[in-house]
Order: sequence, then structure tokens, then C-alpha cells
Amino acid sequence: MGNSVPRARIVIEGIVQGVGFRPFVYQSARSLGLTGWVMNDSRGVLIEAEGQAEALAAFLTVLREDLPPLAAVSHLETAAVPVTGETEFVIRQSCSQRERRAQISPDTFVCPDCLRELLDPSDRRYRYPFINCTNCGPRYTIVTGIPYDRAQTTMAAFPMCPACRREYEDPASRRFHAQPNACPECGPRLFLLDAAGNPLESADPLQEAIAWLQKGEILAVKGLGGYHLAVDATNGGAVEELRRRKARDEKPFALMAADLARIDTFAEVREGERRLLAATERPIVLVRQRSGHAIAPSVAPDNRYFGVMLPYTPLHYLLLAHSFAALVMTSANRSDEPIAFRDADARGRLSGIADLYLGHNREIFIRTDDSIARVMGGRPLLLRRSRGFVPRGLRLPRAQPVVLAVGGELKNTVCLTRDDHAYLSQHVGDLQNPEVFQAFLGTIEHLQDLLELNPQIVAHDLHPDYASSRYAEERSGVRRVAVQHHHAHLASCLAENQVATEAIGVIFDGTGYGADGRIWGGEFLVGDLAGYRRVGHFDYLPMPGGDAAAREPYRMALSALYRAYGKDLPQLPLLASIPRRELRLLLQMIEKGINSPLTSSCGRLFDAVAALTGLRTRVSYEGQAALELEMAIEGDGESEAYPLVLATETTGIVFKTTPLIRAVVDDIRRQVPTGVISARFHATLARAVAAVCCRIRKDSGLNEVALSGGVFQNRFLTEKALFLLTKEGFNVYTHSLVPPNDGGLALGQAAVAGRQAG
Ligand code: ZN
Ligand code: ZN
Ligand code: FE
Repeated sequence: MGNSVPRARIVIEGIVQGVGFRPFVYQSARSLGLTGWVMNDSRGVLIEAEGQAEALAAFLTVLREDLPPLAAVSHLETAAVPVTGETEFVIRQSCSQRERRAQISPDTFVCPDCLRELLDPSDRRYRYPFINCTNCGPRYTIVTGIPYDRAQTTMAAFPMCPACRREYEDPASRRFHAQPNACPECGPRLFLLDAAGNPLESADPLQEAIAWLQKGEILAVKGLGGYHLAVDATNGGAVEELRRRKARDEKPFALMAADLARIDTFAEVREGERRLLAATERPIVLVRQRSGHAIAPSVAPDNRYFGVMLPYTPLHYLLLAHSFAALVMTSANRSDEPIAFRDADARGRLSGIADLYLGHNREIFIRTDDSIARVMGGRPLLLRRSRGFVPRGLRLPRAQPVVLAVGGELKNTVCLTRDDHAYLSQHVGDLQNPEVFQAFLGTIEHLQDLLELNPQIVAHDLHPDYASSRYAEERSGVRRVAVQHHHAHLASCLAENQVATEAIGVIFDGTGYGADGRIWGGEFLVGDLAGYRRVGHFDYLPMPGGDAAAREPYRMALSALYRAYGKDLPQLPLLASIPRRELRLLLQMIEKGINSPLTSSCGRLFDAVAALTGLRTRVSYEGQAALELEMAIEGDGESEAYPLVLATETTGIVFKTTPLIRAVVDDIRRQVPTGVISARFHATLARAVAAVCCRIRKDSGLNEVALSGGVFQNRFLTEKALFLLTKEGFNVYTHSLVPPNDGGLALGQAAVAGRQAG
């Protein structure tokens, strides 16, 4: 009977190190009466277990289905091996040299067990803001190198006390090999500084900070990946003062509230949004404002949504536990600068903004902003992929050579690939800012170090003037691959969905450098990871003043009007608001093509319509006019469409926007409400998507459509296009874990370069 006892060797890959995986295996094996061992190895975790066949089967089920909260298994294989007859199950020490391929887990919200201890007066970590365990706590933001152990984190400065050490060494403890393990005896501490950076003596810095917040002061709080600026969100004066000091005109501020019940008091939260809010990654989630809410209107001007998140560090829980409906928790920076994360730097850059600082002495090694998500078409969609998601790998359709992709210019992220996985970096920001560019360089270096990669292939945008393209140009000893912007968007969506075959790409965004040197952005492509062809686009319009037209949507309105009516412009309130000299000058520029590059951009068409309706003539941040046009829609936005005209020209199918503009003008003159005009405009775009895809299908036989580009952050357009395409029988791919905007560009570039090289 004895030799019928089986023994299995189990290889597990994925996020299985630094997430409590070995203690979990150890405890599961013991409770099932199995013997054997578990160890970390270069690919992940290696297990040998022997015992009763049923126990072994149950063990495998547990390994597949009952994982620790932070673990993610990407691959599991088992093989029968000879029985050895061990009498117990042990955790074997592994050779750290070989652990390197394993993935470092993202930073994660405080787990329910730690939260219970945090609020338990009899626990030795009662109200200790740095409590953590193998299931939770800081990771990516404190890792200074590999392999992942305490010496290679910013916790190296804190030697463990005997009690913490005992937990750390006990396989049965939740803190077995929890690298950031700490307690009030041995770990990091909070401190409070005044506006000038002088320490404020206080027995309880946290209570003191709360008292200041209640008085309406602006508090800089050190978080996981950087500082936040916090104010009481119901205090209109405080919020306006913060807005004034931050020089951030109209961009909405994010909120943090203690729990879902409190969010319910000011927002209408749907089921999918609740799940997303409470997910371990704790992103900022866009939720609809509840009418009659008590949040200050200046938190999100001209917006129907709030960006809200739940607390994710123990410190946040303590800050919010007993007071505040919500706090504004906005990244600590001046507009366009990167978020402040080092203490000295934060005090320098936030001087004149923060009234006081709630800091601590655990260093943040790499800055990581909050992630932003919304629910669209019933699925989560990341608009900004950062804290909580980085550096988790994304599975590619196939293995490829190592590639570094350096992304775009705005909302920059970078991406590294290894085998069949892509590692998309945290949000870096807008590279035109010199400090953001420094962060870009630091991020590349950090990711290369953590993943131990030295890429020989660097992918970049076709635009020669992007700071990222110039970086690629200057990096020596590598092969460079230039990837067209909208091809990269298409590839990003295909890669995220693990599609290696051809698809129709509907790519709508603001700006991308076209293969013909013009500015693209309303594109219908056919392609795969290897290549693409452009089969259709929005009609070209001049952009008077180039980039200025992106900041001043009335310029695009004028351009669209001139195309539709020539010099005989219709009487519109918008035109009366532009000084006559400027009007004449702009019309001349458009007419003669002076400093007026041609664009097929969908984003600029949104700008034109937003300006025509008088909703928005100047913007203070990218995408503002389009966002406000979407927000103007009431209810579900069910609507008829404007006339749709498609032409066939040498460049392919051209979506003629003039009939649409004329119809918008007619509606404006009939004083149709802006919300209705916006709904009709959205319906027209969705119909254009479906109609053009049907034509392309006729020629190509392709039934797969990928939707990408920043315009697909728009819920009305995305859901309508999805509905119509599905009705026509198309198989539609959309983004979820990768942003459709330029934050997802690097993944597409990496996949294209990898495919061309492989
Ligand atoms: Zn925990
Ligand atoms: Zn301790
Ligand atoms: Fe783009």
C-alpha cells in the first residue's frame, strides 16, 4: 500500500514571492497531512508534496483557488516524482541568486487582518500607521533593488526588534518574511512639521493633524508613492484656497472617504464601481455625483462625476476614521510637475501651498501616483495605470525579445518586455516638464534594475520631437524601432487582449504624428502587431496656430465653420465673442494654410463642437473640452444622429464632418440645449464607427474590431459604439487594464517592436 502514496512536484509561476505564498503553502500542506517542502526558485515557487491521493488533489485545488490576496498564479504544472517518505512539511531556504525572475508585487492596501489589529487596543500595533504583513503593505515603492528582501528596501534602515524578528522567522506567522514588517518599537514614525518645515512637538501628530484639517488648513500627507495635499472636502473656502495655491484651475480633485457608506452620501455608486473601489489596488474611481451632496462645488467644477478612493494605508484609515465625510486627496505638486515624494523636495516644492506636513521617516524610493479607473460597458477601465497595478506583468500574445518602449509625450509611461510578459511602468506624466523628464529617466533605470534587463531594442513614437523619441535617438548601442502613434494604440489593445491576428483598429485620440507628416487622430486602420495600413480617417481640418488650437478650441470651431460655410459664416454667439481682428487673422491663416497644419483628429472635432455650443472655448488641461461635452449629456443620452456622410478618396474612406457641423449649427440657432446637441454628436460618431467598420469588413473579411485612443475614455461613445458594433456581429476588443489614452502607448510600441524583431 505504501508505494501507492503519490508524490508530486509542482512548479508555480506568477506573483508568488513576497506575498505570503510559502507560509500559505506550508499551512495548507500541513492541514492536509502532506509531507514535503516548498521553496522559492528562479521561476517562482517549487513544491514537492506527498500523501494520500485525495489530500494531494485537495492541495492542488487550494493552490489554484484559495490563493493569498496578493498572489497571482500565471502558470502551474505538476509532475509525478518518486516518493521519498519524509515525515514533515518544511519551508526550504532558497538560493537567493536564483530568485530573480520572480515578480515584485505592487503596493497594496492594508489587509483586513492588519486593519483589525490596527484598531484593537490590546494589540501591540494599536494605531500604528505602518502595520503590514505578507498580505499587504508597501512593495514596489520601497524596493531599491533585487532580490526582494529587507536589505533591498527602504526598510533596511530599521533593524527589527526581537518581537518583529520572531514573527519574521516563524513560518506559521502572517509576517513570515514580510520585508516591511515593523512595530512602534522598531519601525518608522510619524512627525508633524509647520509650513516652514520646523518640527511641531506633539504627543500625537496624527490627532493634531486632524484638528488642523478640521479648521480648514491644507495638510501635506506622505502616502505610499508620494505626498497628497489634503483638505476637508466639505469646506468650500479651504478647497478654493488649495485650488488657488496649486494653480490648478479646473481639473477635478480626487476625494478619499472612510468607507462605501460615506461615499454613498455624496455619490451614486453602482455595483461594478463598488467592487472596483474596494479592490486590493484601491484606484480612484469615477462615480456619479449624488444630487444635493455636501461636497464643495469647487472639488469638481462642471463635472457630473467625482474621483473617489477608499483609504489604502493604515495612516489613511486613522486620518479618516472618525471625522470628515471626505478629504480632498490630490497629488502634491504644482500643475504639470510630478508628484512630490522625497521629504526635502516636498518641503521645497510645496512651500506656499501646504500649511503643515504630516510626514514619516520611511523613505519612498520610487514615485507612484494613484491609479484612476471607471466602469465602462460593465467592465473596469484604467484611465491611469499606476499604484497598485505596477509592476504586475501583462501577458503578451507570444514570447518576444527584450524591448524597452519609451511611450509618448503626454501621460507618458514606459514598458519593458521579457519572454511573453510586458511590464508597463507607473504613470510618469507630461515629458515637456523637465522634472517629469528626470522621473522618466529614473523610471527606466529602476524597471531595468528590478527586472534585470538590458534591452537591445528601443521602441519609440514616430514623432521626432517627442522627448521620449529623442531619448531613444540618443541611447547608444541599441536597435531603434519607430512605431506610428495610432498603430501603437491598436497594438496596445491587441496585446492587452492577447490577439496575434489582424483586426480593424478604430483609433480616436487628440494628436499623433501620421505617416504622411500630418496630425492624425480619427483613424481606421487594419493591422496586427507586425504592421498596419490606414483604410479610413476623419476629414482633414486646418489647425490654425498648431498647438495653440489644442488649447483654444474656438480655433477649431472656426476652422470647421470655414470648411462648412466658407467666408459666409453663420451668425453665432461664439463668433461675436472673438475680437474682430483676431477673427480676421485666424480666417486668413485657415484660408492660406499659414501655420495651420492639417489634422484628422477626433479630439479636435470634439473641441470644435464644444466651442460652437459655447460650452468651452479655452481649456486648462488636455481633453477638457471633450470631457465637458460628454458631461453635458443628460440621462442615458439616447438620441438620434446627425447626417453621416462617408466618401471614398485616395486615402481611403473619409468621414466627412461638414454635414455634421452644419447640423450642429442649425441646432444651436434653434437653441437646442447643449446636452441634446452633445448626445446627437456622440450618436453620430458611434454610427460612423459602425458604418466604416462594415465597409472595411466587406473588403477585408475582418470581423474583429479594436477600440483604442484617448477618446475611448468617453463612456457614451464607447458604450454606443460597442452596442452598434455588436449588433452588426463584430467581435470587439476594448481596453481594461491598460489605458486607451497615451498611457497605454508604450505597451503597443513594445509589442510592435518585439514582433518585428522576433
Ligand atoms: Zn496585512
Ligand atoms: Zn518591532
Ligand atoms: Fe494618442
